[in-house]
This record gives sequence, C-alpha cells and structure tokens, in this order.
Amino acid sequence: MYSVLKFGGSSVASATNISRVLDIVEKEAAKGRVILVSSAISGCTDALLSGDREQFRDMERRHGDIVKRLFTGADREALQNRLDALFLQMREAPAAEQVTYGEIFSTTILAAKLATEGYKTEWLDSRELVVKGDEPLTYRRIREALQASRADVFVAPGFICRNAAGGVDTLGRGGSDYSAALYAAAVKARSLQIWTDVPGIMTANPRQVPAARTIPRMSYEAALDMASHGAKVLYAPTVAPAMAAGIDIEIRNTFAPEGKCTLIGNCPDASRWIGVASEGNVIRLVGARLPGIGGEDARETAGNALREAGIAALGMTADGPSLDIEVKPAVLDQALRALHRVFFQEMPVTEVNLFVAGDGAVSRALQQMVRESAQAVRERTGKQLRIVGLANSREYGTDLGGNPVIGKKGDYIQAVLETAPKGSLFVDATDSETLYLRYPELLQAGIGIVSSNRRSFAGSYADFAAIHLCARENGVPLRYETTVGAALPILESIARGANSCDEVLSIEAVVSCTLNQILSGYRPGGASFASLVRRAQESGLTEPDPRLDLGGRDALRKLLILAREAGIPLEESDVKVRPIVPETLLQGSLPQFYEGLEAYESQWASEALEAERQGFRRRFVASLEKTEGGYVAGIGLKNVPPVHPAYYLRGTENAIIVRSAFHPYPLVIQGPGEGAREAASSILNDILR
Ligand code: ADP
Ligand code: ASP
Ligand code: MG
Repeated sequence: MYSVLKFGGSSVASATNISRVLDIVEKEAAKGRVILVSSAISGCTDALLSGDREQFRDMERRHGDIVKRLFTGADREALQNRLDALFLQMREAPAAEQVTYGEIFSTTILAAKLATEGYKTEWLDSRELVVKGDEPLTYRRIREALQASRADVFVAPGFICRNAAGGVDTLGRGGSDYSAALYAAAVKARSLQIWTDVPGIMTANPRQVPAARTIPRMSYEAALDMASHGAKVLYAPTVAPAMAAGIDIEIRNTFAPEGKCTLIGNCPDASRWIGVASEGNVIRLVGARLPGIGGEDARETAGNALREAGIAALGMTADGPSLDIEVKPAVLDQALRALHRVFFQEMPVTEVNLFVAGDGAVSRALQQMVRESAQAVRERTGKQLRIVGLANSREYGTDLGGNPVIGKKGDYIQAVLETAPKGSLFVDATDSETLYLRYPELLQAGIGIVSSNRRSFAGSYADFAAIHLCARENGVPLRYETTVGAALPILESIARGANSCDEVLSIEAVVSCTLNQILSGYRPGGASFASLVRRAQESGLTEPDPRLDLGGRDALRKLLILAREAGIPLEESDVKVRPIVPETLLQGSLPQFYEGLEAYESQWASEALEAERQGFRRRFVASLEKTEGGYVAGIGLKNVPPVHPAYYLRGTENAIIVRSAFHPYPLVIQGPGEGAREAASSILNDILR
C-alpha cells in the first residue's frame, strides 16, 4: 500500500524545513511504501522563469547552503558535484526547459538525504512517467516503474512531465499537487497528503483575511470550486484524478503536522457556505451543492455587508450554488473581509429572553417585529431575541424554547421569577394600574424591565423613585421611553440633559395624540367638535371613555414622567388641569355627554373662530415652567402662534419643546407620537439599548 506525500515550495525551502519533511516521511514510511512528490524550493520556479543570471546564481547558492547543512563528508561532495552538473545542464538547456529544473534540484537533494538516512530510496523521473493529457498512459508507466523497483521510498519531482509531442513540459503553475494526485491514482494510494504552509483549506486566504479558519471536511465539488476560483492552496486539476480513484485528499501544514487540516472526500459539506476565494477583482462566495439552492440566496446579505463596509459591488452573478461578486481592485481585501465576516464569523451571541405581559395591539406588533427581525437584529447587534413568556390579564404561558402559548391560570410574575434565565427582560405592554407594584420583585431577581405602560411611572413620586432605586441597586435595566411620544427619543433626550448638569427651565409637551387629531381636524362651520370626538372614539383612537382624554388624564401622566425624567419630583396634585370642555360635561352617562357636547358646539365654534381671527391655533399643551417660587405645571388648551412648533402639527403628531439653562434656543422633538408599530419599535429599542 502506498501513501503519496506532496511537499510545496516553502516546505522544502531550507535545511530546517527539510528536516521537518523527513520527520513526516519517517512516520509514514513505517506504514508502507511512500511516494514523496516535491515542488521546487520556494522562489526557484520564478527565478528560473526570469532567465536572469543573477537570480540563477542566487538559487545555486541557496541549494548549496541546504546541501552544506544537511550533508557531511563524501556525501556532501558527491551531491554538490551532482547539483553543479545539473545547474550547468539547466543553463545550457533551451529557455523553455529551464523552468523544469527547480523540481529536479529539490528532489535530488531529498532523495540523497533519504538514502543517507538509510531508506531504500529511488528517484523517479516524472518527465518519463507523466504524460500530459494522457492519464491512462501515465498510470501505466508509473505502475510499471514502481513494480520494477525494490525501494521503500520514492522521490518524484512534481510539476514536470512530457507532452504528447515528446518534449519536456510542465503541468502549469502550482502543478505539483496534480502530479501527486496522478501518482496516487496510478497506485490507488491509501492516502494522498498535500503538505503546505497553511493548516488546510481555509474559509479564505489567511494572508488576505486573518480571521479565516480551517474547513475540516469538504466535498470534492466544494474543493474544486474553491481551487478553480483563486484558492491556490490546491491546484484545481488535482481533484479529478483523486475523485475518480476514490481517494481522499488531505491538506496539511508542514509547520504544524499535528494541527488542523482539511479532508476532501466524497462527503456532504457541513454548511451552506464553504469559503471565499478571489481571482483578479472577482470574489467568489463558494456554496455547497444542495438540491434546488442557488448562489442567489447570498445576494442580499452580501450586498448589505459590502454596503456597510462602504463598498459598492460592481456586479453579482450566481453560478450554481456559488455567487461571484465583482469589486474595484483597490477594495478587494476589504471586501473579502467584509464578506467573510458575515458569512463565516459568528459573532458572540447573547441571548435576550423576553417575558411579555399584555396582549393588545402593541404586544402583538412587538411579537411580530421580534419574529421578523430576529435575524437582522442578531447580525447587527449580536443579540438573539426570544419571546419566552406571554400573558394577558387572566392567563399566561412560558416556554424557554421560544414558543409560549397563553393558557395557564395563575400568577404570571411568579412563573417569570421561577423560570427566567439570567439577563431576561420583562416587557410591560399592558395598561394595568397595578402591575408596577410587582416591578421590585422582578428587579430584585435580576430581571430588567422595559415598559410602555405609563401608569407604572405616573403614580406617586415615592413609588417612581423606589422602582428606580431598586433597578439601580440590582444593576438591571429599567426603561420606558415608549411611555411618552411612542418612538420619539424624548425621555432619553431629557435624561441626557439632566445627567450632564443642564437644568430644565421649561417643558411644553403637545403629547395627546387623540386631542391633536381632533383639534387639528376641527374647522368652525365644518363637522362639529362632538362628531369629531365620536369619530375618534369609533376608530379606537380614544380611551373606551373619551372623557378620559378630554379630561387631560393621559397628558397629565406624560407630564409627570417628563418632569421626573428631568429630575423634578412632580406630583399629580402639583398640576393644574383645565379640561378641554367644562367639567359639568364630563359627568353623567356617555350619551348625556355627547348630547351636552353638541349643545356646546356654538360656544366651541366661536372660541375657535376667535383664535383663528387672531392668527392662533388651539393646541392641548402640558407645560412645566421654572419660576421664582419653584416649578409650575399645568395642562390645558393654549393658543399657539405660527412661530410655535406645535402650530403646524398634523394628525397624531407630538411635539416636545424643552428649554434649558445651557442653551438660548429650545430642544424641539417632533414626529409621530402614536401607533402600535411605533410603540413596539420603541420597546424594541429599549430592549436592545
Ligand atoms: P505550496 O507551495 O505548498 O503548494 P501554495 O503557495 O501553492 O503552497 O499554496 C498555499 C497558499 O495558498 C497559502 O500560503 C495561502 O496564502 C494561499 N491560499 C489561498 N487561498 C487559501 C485558502 N482558502 N486556504 C488556505 N490557503 C489559501
Ligand atoms: N514549482 C511550481 C510552481 O511554482 C509547481 C508547484 O509549486 O506546484 O508553480
Ligand atoms: Mg501550490
């Protein structure tokens, strides 16, 4: 039984390296006959191709140095004479044949060394055995040569051969790998080993992509795809003869013989993407052959990865399971690294387990968003989001596998406390008045809280402060950006000022979406105020009882949260609320309320007309202002002039105007202030913060 071991140019480039080769051969020779195929020492083929005398002399010196280090006495002298003769022959050879001498020099040294080590060694002349383009003839000649010999270790030059016309020729640059495969196929070798200077075929050329890693096992097809598109670690024609003979190809590192390596064989590939190779300015993302799957799959991810790296792809073409990507030559390495990063470098992933409370529109939008964006979020942030608990006000379900189903009766919070893995978050998407009483239990158990429930933060200031203290003491997050202005970054902006010693002088918040909608839709003489309220109620924009909106309750909660975020311990009793319509209308039954509101229309219309005449628009404003005697807070209708940011609000838009000590001009945040998707995306941001 034969083993074929091929050593590349750097493996035989010095006496030290050759002694590593000898160690490797020694182990293999213990198992059976060995055919050692070698390249020329590194740089030699290029030097011979150059035809430059100075470079020839340099090569002669390098070979002489190796001989001096590896041999002594008569052995050294005999070998040096032999090499001198070969160099002379090379210099006198026709220019086209000079390139074939590199492998002859290196294998002459190797064969001599093995012989002095005591192996029965024979040098095989590949020029007589390997016939370019005729594998059957090549195999026959190799077998005959081996059968006629009594040697244990054969040494054959790679790369060189004879062509059909009978002239000395080569198998092409990098061709020694192919020579080895031909020797292996000829004798049905039990092992074909390509020894080189890297630990196998890697997910990218490690010289271009330092993060490249070894591919432990791959199919012949995948190896061929890599090799024929620029991964020069393996010469592409090597694959076919090995595959036809059913011989696995091992790619090993001469400089770490026991380390990682690649085994190429008749096996399925372990993953969808194999590696990236490049030739010229075309990068090939090599894919595994799977039925019905094409390189198209990678188009979007590849495009995004390049774009994020600031690179434009000049073109993309799918080819079977692989994708070719053309880029400008100047950005090739950068592009390779960007593509390698998304397709082959797993970021460390942190699991974020979410226990969600509430089954309303916001909760449903959040669930959908997590489902749809989990992968993108993972790629961007390294966080793997999973909903592991769901609950409505009566029942709950938990499942650490990520598929909770509501159906159990009992105490959801208790179940969360019992099952939550470290780093879990509790998401309060309810409008419960009392759930916040359980926050401290969760926080103490190390479970962070993300809440869109403004009732939780608009109770007494003492409760508000206690929840914060609890979160801080336990080192867990407590976030509720969604409670004011949905997805607008309002609380964050106010907290930034407060945290950096800026002092809030005033806040004006036009934050009641319902009232904004009704007020901005009202025209004197058009639809009555009452009918606009009714329409808002019917479209679900108001609380079930719209009087809660008209009474300013919702705006009050938001103002409390805004003030507290700015470090002002505002209490409900500090806020003067002027309802939008007289108190008396807000009492009694709902039909009575609408009746009263219709009757109130003429007064409402005349007030609106008067405001319009003076150039104002009416807005429902929650405000807080620093005065000599402390902060004064109020909520009510206000006439705003065109210079006021709230003048131009449309529909359910919100506007917050914050004046502070540091700045002569206010901070204005304006934009969509409501909507289930907006709220869900704000919760998601809090989760990821
Ligand atoms: P040898 O002289 O041993 O035949 P080569 O220089 O021909 O070695 O091939 C090895 C080189 O191939 C490595 O040094 C590496 O720079 C390059 N290479 C390109 N693509 C890859 C890849 N995907 N995995 C490993 N090496 C690669
Ligand atoms: N020495 C040849 C070359 O440099 C063949 C080989 O190394 O495989 O191309
Ligand atoms: Mg090579």
